Amino acid sequence: MRVDILASGSSGNCIALTTNETTILIDAGIAKTKIEKRLLEVGIKPNSVRGIFITHAHSDHVKGLPLANKYKIPVYAGEREWKNITTVDEDLIRPIGVGGIFGCGHFIVNDFNVHHDAIDPRGYVVRTLDNFKVSICLDTGQVDKSMLNAMRHSDIYIIEANHEPRMVEASDYPNSVKARILSHVGHLSNEQTATALKELVIGKGEQIYLTHLSSKNNLPMLAEKTVKRELSKKGYQAGNHYELEVI
Ligand SMILES: [Zn+2]
Ligand SMILES: [Zn+2]
Repeated sequence: MRVDILASGSSGNCIALTTNETTILIDAGIAKTKIEKRLLEVGIKPNSVRGIFITHAHSDHVKGLPLANKYKIPVYAGEREWKNITTVDEDLIRPIGVGGIFGCGHFIVNDFNVHHDAIDPRGYVVRTLDNFKVSICLDTGQVDKSMLNAMRHSDIYIIEANHEPRMVEASDYPNSVKARILSHVGHLSNEQTATALKELVIGKGEQIYLTHLSSKNNLPMLAEKTVKRELSKKGYQAGNHYELEVI
């Protein structure tokens, strides 16, 4: 399976997963034309996208959904989340109940609940027919046991490492925004992400992508150091037991 992270961060998120010449997108949070351009840059034809799986309806995850209408791509999102998604043609709407399983091209996709201030936010577990497993966990204020269980034994983890709490505290954001980011339905700190990965990684050569870093309240080096430090407590070293990339 190939992973192309087409956009990451508060200005937009979009991830392409490709196998056997079929592609699915996780989120479409940049403008439609930008998604088309970035897909073509990595050698993917927009009309080979078989499905778009939305984590939640915040604009940095849904802005480019008119792409679905242009190419007639089905769009999957938590059933109650559709209340806040209005840009998708009716015949392409695919509401996901709890614990749905979807066949999409050469992919099998499961969802799991996450903790974020949207109505019905989800994370996704994507498998290929030969059982290669990718977990995608974006905006969430915490990682609970059932999320860990859903993601366990993945070959690839795509997870947000949003902020460093001290940087949020020191920022010039209004107090209400600071409280939202740091809350249990906000975003993951480097520490929370590192703790989750320490639970998940078993040192079999997993690929980790740290995504959705805040441009104001985080530094790639801090996110990387925090995760590496936690994993080293289990005796795992980057490049040997796992691979780490900060997007
Ligand atoms: Zn969000
Ligand atoms: Zn977001």
